[in-house]
Amino acid sequence: MVARVIPVESFDLVVFGATGDLAHRKIMPSLYRRWKEGQIPDGAKIIGAARSDMSRADFQAQIETALTNFVAADDLDPDTLARFLAMLDYVMIDARGDDGWDALGAMMREDVVRAFYFSVAPALFGAIAERLHLRGIADRHARIVVEKPFGKDLNTARALNRALAAHFHEDQIYRIDHYLGKETVQNLMAVRFANILFEPLWNAQFVDHVQITVAETVGVGGRGEYYDTSGAMRDMVQNHLMQLLCLIAMEPPHCFEPDAMRDEKLKVIRALDPLHPGDLVRGQYRGAGSDDYLSECGNPASRTESFIALKLHVSNWRWKGTPFYLRTGKRMKSRVSEIVVTFKEPPHSIFGESNQWRENVLVIRLQPDEGMDLRVMIKEPGPGGMRLKDVALDMSFAEALGNDLDVPDAYERLIMDVIRGNQTLFMRGDEVEAAWAWVDPVIAAWEGRDDRPEPYEPGSTGPEGALMLMHKDGRRWREIR
Ligand code: NAP
Repeated sequence: MVARVIPVESFDLVVFGATGDLAHRKIMPSLYRRWKEGQIPDGAKIIGAARSDMSRADFQAQIETALTNFVAADDLDPDTLARFLAMLDYVMIDARGDDGWDALGAMMREDVVRAFYFSVAPALFGAIAERLHLRGIADRHARIVVEKPFGKDLNTARALNRALAAHFHEDQIYRIDHYLGKETVQNLMAVRFANILFEPLWNAQFVDHVQITVAETVGVGGRGEYYDTSGAMRDMVQNHLMQLLCLIAMEPPHCFEPDAMRDEKLKVIRALDPLHPGDLVRGQYRGAGSDDYLSECGNPASRTESFIALKLHVSNWRWKGTPFYLRTGKRMKSRVSEIVVTFKEPPHSIFGESNQWRENVLVIRLQPDEGMDLRVMIKEPGPGGMRLKDVALDMSFAEALGNDLDVPDAYERLIMDVIRGNQTLFMRGDEVEAAWAWVDPVIAAWEGRDDRPEPYEPGSTGPEGALMLMHKDGRRWREIR
């Protein structure tokens, strides 16, 4: 089955930081693939902007190399590639300087969507926003896209929001959390709000607890120096895991419109209880060579966590009493992102004590092998009386929808959503600030205690303390396979 492609309207997209890693690995390959699928209309312009002194031809050659490296060989046919490269232009601009802006303005067309992707350090967001506005390059209809990290705490996030709000309205600002662009994350909304099946059970009366796991096998690698100033709480929990939590815990919005969705997500973040210090475990992978966090980050005294597990409570009518356990880490056993909803025991068993009861569990797999798995109790076949057994109703999306389903990468979807003017999958300023307002005191508490993260073996499921976090509640993590 091939995904339906609806062309977007014509646009001019400026990529600030077009010579950088993100532009080469994600933005340009995503644009190329959408172009190849026929979603980008003829006449669209993609303009790279950075300080490097180079010609349009040099830039086209640089992007050709990037596409060769980061697009599957099957997708790269010479004719499509040549026509894509012909769309590219380049302008030399220092975000903090005065030169190049008029040339940029002159390259852009009137009466088409103007979008500006800030793929640069957040310290440059304000300078670019100001110049685009004051030079008349971006008007009330323009859209700007900003990358994570959106601040490193509430104060810095507020400062970034203020710097952007000085020149753009909230409905022009697209804050990317690429997790929200993943097909399976969007499927969470379909599972919850397009089926009557789950909603009546989706509350503290029937749900025992929820687990959200995002495990990576990679370490911090070349990002070690940056990562050491951030850690798993800022890098993963404040954004990706909190967003997943919101999608699982939110009330049904009255429609699938950006602000209706974002209002409901915001309410979840605001309903979070402050974290109890005993409900948090931080870990650091410790091994030999590149398997050791301290040598990878280059700071032998580092107390930054590469793993975190925590238990949260959402204090509202729906969820009071149902804990949410979140964990994420690097250099773990395998690359897994999944959400596990464990339902409560039936109020009365009619089958006697010899039958061991197992929980009904709904597993939503985000990666790999996206799909859903619902564990239900059935009668064990055979003449041996009424013996129960739990089995999986297992659905792989690839199998159900056709193995050759052509699913766009998160960045492809998100960039096209910017052109379409759809902010549903982007974070609003108040959501980001609310998430920081919850995270800040948690970080301040461990910094105040000067805690050391607990070591864990690379390739494991994380530190012992994470297992204990659930064991002490009589629960256990779903095994990372
Ligand atoms: P990078 O490889 O360091 O690239 C930075 C880009 O900014 C380069 O094109 C650089 O080009 C340009 N630049 C630097 N100073 C500039 C200035 N004063 N004026 C104009 N352009 C300037 O960084 P990156 O990894 O691509 O990341 C870009 C942004 O995306 C960052 O905010 C990062 O946190 C975020 N992000 C990156 C990733 C990723 O996987 N890489 C993932 C998520 C988020 P010149 O030197 O030619 O000016």
